[in-house]
Parts: sequence; C-alpha cells; structure tokens
Amino acid sequence: MKHARTAALSLSLLALVAVLVIAPWSLRRPPRASLTGGPHESLAATSKALSRADQTTVRVAVTSSPQKQIELSIDGPYQLRPVGSDKVLSRGQSLGSTTVSATSNGFKIGKAEHAVTRLEIAVTQSPSIWVNGHEYRGNLRLFRRSGGGVLAVNVLPLGDYLASVVDSEMPTSFGVEARKAQAIVARTYALDVVRSDEGDSEFDLFASTSSQKYLGFQYRDGSRRLAGESEASRQIVRDTTGMVCTYQGRLFRTYYSATCGGHTTQGNAVFSDAVAALKSVPCDFCREAKLYRWQADLPKAEVETKLKAYFRSEGKTLEKLQSIKLASGNPDRGTEVPEFAVSDGQRTHRISAATLRRQLSVSTLYSPFFSISETGKSSTLHFEGRGHGHAVGLCQWGARGQSQLGKTCYEIVRYYYSGAKIVQLQ
Ligand SMILES: [Zn+2]
Repeated sequence: MKHARTAALSLSLLALVAVLVIAPWSLRRPPRASLTGGPHESLAATSKALSRADQTTVRVAVTSSPQKQIELSIDGPYQLRPVGSDKVLSRGQSLGSTTVSATSNGFKIGKAEHAVTRLEIAVTQSPSIWVNGHEYRGNLRLFRRSGGGVLAVNVLPLGDYLASVVDSEMPTSFGVEARKAQAIVARTYALDVVRSDEGDSEFDLFASTSSQKYLGFQYRDGSRRLAGESEASRQIVRDTTGMVCTYQGRLFRTYYSATCGGHTTQGNAVFSDAVAALKSVPCDFCREAKLYRWQADLPKAEVETKLKAYFRSEGKTLEKLQSIKLASGNPDRGTEVPEFAVSDGQRTHRISAATLRRQLSVSTLYSPFFSISETGKSSTLHFEGRGHGHAVGLCQWGARGQSQLGKTCYEIVRYYYSGAKIVQLQ
C-alpha cells in the first residue's frame, strides 16, 4: 500500500454528504482472499444510477513498474493523442495484437513511431483495450519513463474500477454483506488516495495488493477468458454507491487485509498515516480461513545467509547465527508487531517481525505474527504464525464470518474501523 497522509474531505463537500441511517451498534465489541473469475454474463456498464462520487476519474497503474514492452490490442475505434491534448496523432477502427516499446523520444506501437512521451489511447467503446492479457474499461495512458520503460495507466470512472476490485478482492461465496463492506472500504481507500496530493502525478493506484487488487473487465488465463467483474459485483457497487467511511469528518486510508488470525493490529504499528479508527479489535470471525493458523520451516543456514546480508546492508555485523528470540510484542495478540533479537553470541541486533518476514520470505511467512523455535538438531527454524497480511483494519475473512452471522455491511465496517461513520456522497 502507498503510505501517505490522510486526505481531508472539505467542509463544502461534507455539506453534500447525506448521513445514512445507521443501525445502533449491536456488536459486543471485534493475499488476501482467493480470486474469483468466470465467464461473462453481460457487458453492462456500472455507470447507470451511480452517484457523482462514483463517477470520479481514477488512474490505475496496470503495470506494477515500467516495462520494456507491453502487449496491446484494441477491439474498437480509437484515437491516439498526447495526454491533455485534443490533437489526434493517429486513429483506427481496431488494433490487432501489437507490441509497445519506448524509443529515445517517445513510443513505438507496432511499426509506427510517435514522438510524445505521454500518450493517451481514447476509445469510443468500453471495454475494448487489452494490456498484457487484461481487458480494461475506459482509456489507457502510456508514459515513457527514463531508462526506456513503458508505464501503462488505465483511466476510468471509480464505479467501474470498484466493480472489478470487489470481485478481484473477495469471492461471491463471502456473502453479499461482506462484499458490500468490501466495496465501501475500497471506495474510501481509492477516494482518499485520489483526493490527497501525494504520490505519483501520473497515477493514483496500483492494480495489485500494493493498493487494491484490480483485474480489469476480463483477463486471459492460458486459453481461458475469466471475468474480472460480474453483474453481481456491479450490483454491489450500485447498492453502495457513494458510500464511504469517515473518521472525525474526514476520509481516511481504510487499510484492510485477508485474515487477521484472531486480532486485528493497531494501525500505527504498521502505517505512519493510520488514523485512530484503525484500532486493534478481537476477531475470530476469520477462524475458517486456511491461514488463520499456519506453520513453516526454513533451514537455519538459509536464514543465516539472508540475515547476514540484511544486517550488512544496515552497516551491522552478524557472524554465525546463534539464536532468534522474541524481544517484544506478543505474536498471539495484535496490538503491535513483534520484534526479535538476533544474536551471534557476540552481538545482538533487533529486527521487527515485518522486516524479518520481508527478508526471509513473504510467501512462506504469511504475516508478521509468528513465533520461532529450533527443530531438527537446530538445523531448522520452525515458525508458527497466525493470519495473512498486516492485519490492520477490515479482516476480509472476518467480514465473511460476520456476513454469515447476519451482520450488515455497516456493522461489519464499523466493527473494524472503531468510531468511523458511514456516509453517502452524492
Ligand atoms: Zn479476522
């Protein structure tokens, strides 16, 4: 996730906000989800009956970093023009599968060269643009980056973006109320980023869990085409149109994660811009998640090699790895991220579990909440952990559990963001 300060909703905007009827607080106190995808049932757009807020333009970087080349095709009429200009450089009725690469002063699209470093592909029929096997609604911008990379940015209305985020982040089996909660939280996250000044001037969000998972309208998986959104997800967006979370009258960065494993984490233990609503709360609603509890074994020699390299990069020395012991925090509770003390017998260095996880393996250690013990005559380190992800804010598997208990999306959202209000932007 991009870390940045929380954006403020202006008072004039708040004047437009209609407060939803919120049911009395009824709860006692509280990879991310697996992806879905199936054949498309219709091509209906989400824009019908959406609030103005959901028509806000969002810019999503669909390549996680600038690429040497991207695969592009367009299934309908299009125009190429410089970003921010009406001057048409080229147009066509469609474009077959073509490679886009950067040149010294612009782009090469197939055999045609364009001497501009910021190019917009505008279409009259949406969705029709394919980039690297994903089809997107809206337009596409290409930015030539220093070093010769191409950055592809999808530009589309927030409501269309959210229809894909809901399906990309949470399967239909999680339940309608959980998915409505997901839509409210994802909308708040996106609008907070868009309305803040931070970040890259060319895009707002990544299409990955660095921001929120966004697969687009549909995508290819081998020879199959899978849906990145559905009529069900479009309905979720319409049913929650304009609904966002506020804390003390402002939008905030509504962090969320796949599975908290029993306790969500205090937001400011992980994110510098976390507001007080990101409070640690108990949550065993996620206990059916596969990663509610997990175990992993790593060879001690491999851990030693990685830690030596890490501490060297920090200007510290680590000789033979002798022990890794819990120094602070409690992996069984989520109020803070634990710290470990790494010793070679001579010196001891502290390292947070989050850094340790990044250094060792984020795909084997699913969260920073784990204990470590030695097994196999001390040649193996055994990790016992809980949850998947940083555990700040809404727990997606917990939302599923609460949805199954009959909680509404409002109850679910307010459970994970203590003291937050849900309001509907016009
Ligand atoms: Zn949970």
